[in-house]
Amino acid sequence: MMKLDEIDLKLIYLLMDNSRLSISELAERLGVSRPTVKSRLDRLEKEGVIQRYTIKLNPELQRASNVVALIIKTDEPEKLQEFEEIIEINRFTSKKYLIKVAVEDMEGLRNVIEGAGFEVLEIMPILESIEKEYPPKVKVSFKCDYCGKEITGEPIVYKYRNKVYFFCCETCFREFKKARENLEKFKLKEKDKVEHAHEHEHHAHN
Ligand SMILES: [Zn+2]
Repeated sequence: MMKLDEIDLKLIYLLMDNSRLSISELAERLGVSRPTVKSRLDRLEKEGVIQRYTIKLNPELQRASNVVALIIKTDEPEKLQEFEEIIEINRFTSKKYLIKVAVEDMEGLRNVIEGAGFEVLEIMPILESIEKEYPPKVKVSFKCDYCGKEITGEPIVYKYRNKVYFFCCETCFREFKKARENLEKFKLKEKDKVEHAHEHEHHAHN
């Protein structure tokens, strides 16, 4: 696996949130040039770090089917591939599998079981699937956006106003947020002053 640096990682985090961000938008958010973003993306794709740009579907649409987990035994595992209802295949041993089947009803399930010709050892309906978002597992050395020290281990990732920040610890993260809030309050006050000044000008003309 290629070595990733801070820019690569920030690109990945931004695209994990929204894979439709354009090169210009990415460049602006990261504060780098468009050719830089383009060449980084080309490399990440070529090296297989980014395998696919995908979409997140409304779970309501996926809930149309009932999902059932089955522990099965089969002599013909290749048959499992033939059924689009079988949405997940995990192998335990050469013959034992845990599969997930999405079907409308029991009739549909029966058709899959008979069609694929496996023996059901155990059957469990899945009531809820909790999707976890996995952060990329990479070891890169980059600097904390608050204290500037090198981050060792897992960074704290913070997305703010479409930008991605990394922190070495909770303290830096907290302090950063505090500083941000103060800066924002200050900016609001400044804006207020300017607007009031304009109002006064206006009144003076009348
Ligand atoms: Zn820090």
